[in-house]
Amino acid sequence: MDKRTVGCLGGGQLGRMMVYAAHRLGVRMCVLDPLGEHSPAGQVSELSVKGSFQDAEKIRELASKCDILTLEVEHVNAQVLEELHQKGVPVQPLPFVVKLIQDKYDQKVHLQKHSIPLPDFEKVDSEQQLHSIGEKFGFPMMLKSRFGAYDGRGNAVVANAAAIPTAWKKLGGHDGKKLYVEKWAPFKMELAVMVARGVDETMNVTMRTYPVVHTVQRDSVCFTCLTPPVGVTQKQQELAQKVATDAIKSFDDARGIFGVEMFLLEDGQVLLNEIAPRPHNTGHYTMEACGVDQFEQHLRAVLGLPLGDCNLRVGGAMMVNILGQGETPEMVAKTMAPLRRALRVPDAGIHWYGKEGCVKGRKMGHITVTGFTPASALEEIRPVLKAVDGEGN
Ligand code: ATP
Ligand code: MG
Ligand code: MG
Repeated sequence: MDKRTVGCLGGGQLGRMMVYAAHRLGVRMCVLDPLGEHSPAGQVSELSVKGSFQDAEKIRELASKCDILTLEVEHVNAQVLEELHQKGVPVQPLPFVVKLIQDKYDQKVHLQKHSIPLPDFEKVDSEQQLHSIGEKFGFPMMLKSRFGAYDGRGNAVVANAAAIPTAWKKLGGHDGKKLYVEKWAPFKMELAVMVARGVDETMNVTMRTYPVVHTVQRDSVCFTCLTPPVGVTQKQQELAQKVATDAIKSFDDARGIFGVEMFLLEDGQVLLNEIAPRPHNTGHYTMEACGVDQFEQHLRAVLGLPLGDCNLRVGGAMMVNILGQGETPEMVAKTMAPLRRALRVPDAGIHWYGKEGCVKGRKMGHITVTGFTPASALEEIRPVLKAVDGEGN
C-alpha cells in the first residue's frame, strides 16, 4: 500500500508491535537496536541494524536504508536526528520535541509556558538548595533525574528533611547528575491518555485523542490499565483528555503518537506528570479495544496518512503487564503462568515480546481482556491477575 521504509530507533516491544501494524499497512520497517535482528522488533521486521540508538554512525546507517525515521524510545541521540532532519531526512516526531522531552525539567518549563497544569517544580543544583525547596514545597516531595529516567529509576521520594542526603546521593547529585524537584501530587488515581497528531490531505494538523485509562503502578512500573476508568466522572475524563490534547498541541508540527501521564487529585484537578513521544504502555489496550490501535496510528501520523478511529469498540478493557520474575526454571514458569491462564479466558489478547532470558522486572509480555463494561473486563481478567501473584490455577 505504501512503498516507504520506516526506520525505528529502538527494537523493543513497542517497536515489535509497530512492525505488526506496518505489516498490515504494507509498510517496511528497519529497526536499530543493540540486539539487531534478535531484538523483539528485529525478529519480525524486514530489516535491522545492529547498534546503539545513541551511536551517530549507526543512526546514519539506519537513515541510509529508510525513507523516514521514528522511534520507540526517547533516550536516543537527538543531536544526530536534528542533523539528519536539517539535511532533509524526514524524522517524526521532530527532533526538537524528542530533545525537549528527554530533559524532564525543560519539558515541564515548556508545558508551564503553555499553561498546562503541573505539580510545582524547581531545578536543584545543590543539597543545600534542596533544603530550602523542602521548606517551600513541604514533604514528601519527589526528587527526579532530568535525563534518562524510566520505570521510576530516576526518582527518589524525599520523605522529610532528614532524608535529603540519601535521596541526593541516590540520584547522583554529588556526582553532578542534573536533578530537579517536584512538589508531591497527592493523587487519587493516575490517568493516561494517548494523543495522535498527524496531517490531513492539505497538510493541516489533525489530532485524535484516545479514551482515558486508569493506570496502576507497582514499584513505579505500570502494572494494570483499565478503561474507561471506574470512579472518574465524565467531566473529569474530558478534562484529562483536554489537558493531554492541549499539551500535545504545543509541539508545533511534530507528528506521531504521544503518551500523556497525569495525576487526578481528590478535588478533581488534573495535573500532567510526563509525556512520552511514542507508543506507550498505557496504550496497549487499543490493540483489542479501539478502532485503530496506537501503533498503526503512530505510523499513520508519521507517514502523513489519514488518522484512524480512536473510539472504544468494546464497553471496557483491562491490560496487565507480565514482568520477568527471574532466570531459574521455577521463576520462568511463574512468569509464564498468567499467560497460560489467559489462554482459557475468552476475549483475552495475549502478547509475548520474544525477549531472551527472563530478567527480573523486565517487561516480557502483556495481556488485555475486553468486556461489555470495565467491571466485566476486570472480572474476566481476575484469574490472570491472581496468576501474576502466584495464586489460583
Ligand atoms: P516511566 O516509566 O513512566 O517513564 P519515569 O521513570 O519517567 O516513569 P515518572 O513517571 O516521573 O517516572 O514517575 C513514576 C511514578 O512516580 C509516577 O507514575 C507516580 O506514581 C510517581 N510520581 C511521580 N511524580 C510524582 C509526584 N510529583 N508526586 C507524587 N508521585 C509522583
Ligand atoms: Mg518517563
Ligand atoms: Mg512515567
